[in-house]
Amino acid sequence: MTKMRHVLSLSGGKDSAALAIYMRDRVPNMEYIFSDTRKELNETYEYLERIEDYLGVRVNRLNAELGFDHWLDVYGGMIPSNHRRWCTKMLKLKPFENFIGEDPVLNYVGLRADENRSGYISHKPNITPVYPFQEDGLKLPDIEEILRVSGVGMPPYTKWGRSRSGCFFCFYQQKIEWVRLKETYPDLYDQAKAYEQVYEGSGNTFTWSERESLEELERPERMQSIKDEHRRRQLAKEVRGDNLTLEQVFSRAERTDEADDEACLICTL
Ligand code: SF4
Repeated sequence: MTKMRHVLSLSGGKDSAALAIYMRDRVPNMEYIFSDTRKELNETYEYLERIEDYLGVRVNRLNAELGFDHWLDVYGGMIPSNHRRWCTKMLKLKPFENFIGEDPVLNYVGLRADENRSGYISHKPNITPVYPFQEDGLKLPDIEEILRVSGVGMPPYTKWGRSRSGCFFCFYQQKIEWVRLKETYPDLYDQAKAYEQVYEGSGNTFTWSERESLEELERPERMQSIKDEHRRRQLAKEVRGDNLTLEQVFSRAERTDEADDEACLICTL
C-alpha cells in the first residue's frame, strides 16, 4: 500500500507560515511546498527563507512548466480576474497536483477558526484537506502569537500595508493596496499597468482593479480619495470595534475591503 504523504503548501502568507510552525513537531515527515508564479514580491522569497531557517528543512519550490506570460498568451492576452481565474489553476494548482501525483495525501490548510470561507483548493480524490487551526479553535491572535514567539514574525510586506501574498499584480488586492504598491514599488506598478492591454477577442480592455485601469487609479487625486476612503472605513471600525487592538482593527478593515473572500487559499493563506 502506498504510504500516506503529509503536505503543507506555503503561500508566503501569515496563516500558512504559522501552520508550518505549528505542525513542525506534530508531523515530522511533513513535505513543505511553495508554488512559485515568478511574479511574487521579493519579500515573499525572503520570508520563505526565514521560515526554512525555523523549520530546518528546505521548502520545495514548484514552478509551473511555463510561466504567467506563457499562459497569458494561451488565454489570448486576457488577464485573469475572479471570474477568469486561470492563473490559480495553471500556476498554483497544477504544479501542486503534479507534485502529489496519485499518492494519498493529507493536505494541511491554514484556514483559521475565525474564518468562514471555502476558498479554491484541489479536489482530486487522493487529496484530503485538513484544517488544524479550525480543529483546534485557533484564531487570528493565536496565529500572530505563534509567529511572534517563533521569531519568524509577520510577512515583511505587511509593514507597508499589503495584506496578501501572491502575485504583485493580483486582482484580489484592494484599491488601497494598489496605492501602496505604487508608492512602494513604482516599477512593479508599471509592470502591472503594462498588462492592461486591449483584448483582441472582444476589443475590451480588461483591468486588474474593478471598474478602473491602473492608469486612472494612479492619478494623484484618485489615490488621495482611495486613501481618504480607507481611513474613513478604519475609523468607523474603530468606533464600532469591541476592544480590538489596532492590528485587529486594521486586519478587519482590510478584509472588509476584499472583493471576494474566496481568494485562492493556495495563493494567499
Ligand atoms: S496570487 Fe492572484 S494573480 Fe497570482 S495566481 Fe493567485 S489569484 Fe492569480
